[in-house]
Amino acid sequence: MPFTQLQTELDIRSAQGLLRSRRTLTSPQTTHALVDGKLYLAFCSNDYLGLANHAQLIAALQQGAAQWGVGAGAAHLVNGHFGAHHQLEQQLAAFVGKPAALLFSTGYMANLGAVQALVGKGDTVFADKLNHASLNDAMLLSRAETKRYRHGDMAQLAQLLAQTTNGRKLVITDAVFSMDGDIAPLRELLALCEQHDAWLYVDDAHGFGVLGEHGRGSLFEAPLPPGEGLGWGNSERIIYMATLGKAAGVSGAFVAAEQVVIDTLINHAHSYVYTTATPPALSVVLAQSLQLIAQGDALRAHLQQLIAQLRAGLADLPWQLMPSHTAIQPLLVGDNQAALKLSAALRERGIWVAAIRPPTVPQGTARLRITLSAAHSAADVDQLIVALHELAH
Ligand SMILES: *Cc1c(COP(=O)(O)O)cnc(C)c1O
Repeated sequence: MPFTQLQTELDIRSAQGLLRSRRTLTSPQTTHALVDGKLYLAFCSNDYLGLANHAQLIAALQQGAAQWGVGAGAAHLVNGHFGAHHQLEQQLAAFVGKPAALLFSTGYMANLGAVQALVGKGDTVFADKLNHASLNDAMLLSRAETKRYRHGDMAQLAQLLAQTTNGRKLVITDAVFSMDGDIAPLRELLALCEQHDAWLYVDDAHGFGVLGEHGRGSLFEAPLPPGEGLGWGNSERIIYMATLGKAAGVSGAFVAAEQVVIDTLINHAHSYVYTTATPPALSVVLAQSLQLIAQGDALRAHLQQLIAQLRAGLADLPWQLMPSHTAIQPLLVGDNQAALKLSAALRERGIWVAAIRPPTVPQGTARLRITLSAAHSAADVDQLIVALHELAH
């Protein structure tokens, strides 16, 4: 069988410093990871609040399995939709201030299903060039026309929207850009969507649980004073998506929006209709996780302190931290091999930070994607700062 071509392609990737491989953890997801018998201080997970190995959530999973068993056994539209799923959907919707919510197995599937259900041939999707790969795949799958605008370039988006006169218009964006850590200009995006009668799809994978009052996400950043509702984030045009495997520490995702949008997804989102429901026990854990998020102001305050500590500590390095105020703090290296070398040198010092290379990020912008978690201590962050300074000299 002719697999030699596949091997050649892998060899080429390897020569370019682009070959991907996996490292196997033999301990739970915490700030310290055991790999090949060695313990590493890790700065690469998206477990921003340190919930992935939380004792209360482990207990909730055990209790959920005792109550509901381990498998859903069917898709939601057959006989796989359980009370635990249903209740969690209502809690999630209320938490993010939307009338309804729908659970998906993963964020990747939520994006594929929602975009494909909302737009099709004759419609247009507008997308930031630095959007997550799942949003890029989603717009291709939808068969709508696709128009990508330069990262954060509202003038170009306005132009593209103005040129589009027929069909539905859907603007899709990361709220917090996953490889850069910067936040999308959501208010400006919403204003443009209102002006041009478009819908706004916000992927808040890295904001939910971390940003906004009580961790309600990016739509709750700087809300209006009490008594004025949710403010701008309350617009019915906004279709909100968040993942539950990052700050929430478990697995899954949800879309929250007007009821008619959710009903449309239930009827048309293939990645919802044609897949087995997640184990209902996971919804029991997620309901508990949602409580920890809501009560997690102290965790978020600690995380903010760590971010400030890291930025101050790395200000004078030859490599630059990208302008981010979120838990994603990428250190720009540029060259692929140089990024790999720096990551390997840190690993020798017992610190694990993943090097991110093209095509995940644009050519020439390979970086160390440092992520912080509320589970890190100030001493952990100091250790990273000291190691990077040693490697710079
Ligand atoms: C991680 C991520 C996803 C995918 O979510 P999963 O639950 O991991 O499939 C989608 N969008 C963005 C921006 C992400 O960072």
